[in-house]
Amino acid sequence: MIDFEFRKQVMDYHMGSDIIKYCYQCSRCTDNCPVSNVSKDFYGTTGYDPRLNILNALLGNKDAIFSADPLTIWGCTVCDTCNELCPQNIELTEIFTFLKNESVKKGEAPNFIYRQAKTIFDNAKAIPSQSAIERRREQLGLPSVIKPDVNEIQTLLKNIGADSKIKQNEG
Ligand code: SF4
Ligand code: SF4
Repeated sequence: MIDFEFRKQVMDYHMGSDIIKYCYQCSRCTDNCPVSNVSKDFYGTTGYDPRLNILNALLGNKDAIFSADPLTIWGCTVCDTCNELCPQNIELTEIFTFLKNESVKKGEAPNFIYRQAKTIFDNAKAIPSQSAIERRREQLGLPSVIKPDVNEIQTLLKNIGADSKIKQNEG
């Protein structure tokens, strides 16, 4: 079922006044998406499908996006390949960011997203420093990694309400 309000949100978010950017479903994004290539064996016939996501988003087909497997929204690793190759210059990852944010707002993001967010909140890094990494860097003659300012990152994350979202999904 088409959700016109959702469709308007996507269009407002993506298009602004630039009406020439309609997707014409050429599938170049899906054909070159690395996630699509590695997920064909377990996720539909095309694997993860950014083309289909764009179609459903621009048509306002909200249920097809939010009621589906979490991979539909969260499969994109934001490598930006599709953005660079889209002949219509559609910023696919911008639309996917909107969909991801909507998923978090609805409390429907998969648990691993909250766990990853908590790691970033606690360490100010997605992958915390490990002594093995530090040792390897030393062996390679590389400088130590500068420690991030955890307080600064936590202040930023609290400002956007990320801390309460993380707490709600702990456990
Ligand atoms: S988003 Fe771009 S690359 Fe993907 S199907 Fe649409 S026009 Fe083609
Ligand atoms: S940015 Fe996302 S959808 Fe686009 S090619 Fe990379 S993984 Fe696929």
